[in-house]
Amino acid sequence: MRRALVAGNWKMNGRVAQNDELVTTVLAGLEQQALTERVDVMVFPPSIYITQVEAAVRESDLSVGAQNLCEFGDGAYTGELSAGMLADVGCSAVLIGHSERRAMFGDREQRVAAKVKAALSAGLTPVLCLGESLEQRDAGETLAVVSGQFRSAVAGLELSEIVQLVLAYEPVWAIGTGRTATPEQAQEVHAHLRVLLAEQGQNVADVVRVLYGGSVNADNAAALFAQQDIDGGLIGGASLKAKDFLAICHAAA
Ligand code: PEP
Repeated sequence: MRRALVAGNWKMNGRVAQNDELVTTVLAGLEQQALTERVDVMVFPPSIYITQVEAAVRESDLSVGAQNLCEFGDGAYTGELSAGMLADVGCSAVLIGHSERRAMFGDREQRVAAKVKAALSAGLTPVLCLGESLEQRDAGETLAVVSGQFRSAVAGLELSEIVQLVLAYEPVWAIGTGRTATPEQAQEVHAHLRVLLAEQGQNVADVVRVLYGGSVNADNAAALFAQQDIDGGLIGGASLKAKDFLAICHAAA
């Protein structure tokens, strides 16, 4: 019922020539294997390269998103990018609440909620990232942590807005560490998120995609994506290697 989605978070990586090569190779692979007939694929380059990547993928089914946005509208916010600007240059989605932004750039619950609202107001799909730290997991707090993150992010939203979200469960201890949640560990949290979505409305639980992120690679993707409530992946490191990213897209298709 839900179409799989694979999203590549390039983080703060890339240069013009490198991006060109990566996107060209990914596009060729997607086309050769007709992958976008079965799976939605997005890439999230650093903002300065969005226009470069958008121009390269414009005639294709590969979509482009941003890794962050400002919660405010246009104005005196030096160094920031508004939701309207991201939509204007062809973004269709934006990552919100990534653990790196929560930990290092002050994206706390209230700001995350405001960013979700700002994204929706510009017609961007918010990809809301949630996940517990290792200390929280060890303390048995995982489900409570993701519940709190989810509830505060959707508190002010209409149902018609919540159905537009994509969730990405990313245990902080699995991001960039090479340590992946087991399919069972991930499925437990995804099933819980599905229950939280169903509390909003069964149709919400039926349509909102919940991605897994955290050291997904070409070898472990299929077992993760085989889980009932895992609708695809948010891929960091492996999205920078065309061959690996394509293998992950194939695993989701
Ligand atoms: C991410 O940055 O969202 C991520 C999941 O990174 P990695 O795949 O490298 O763990």
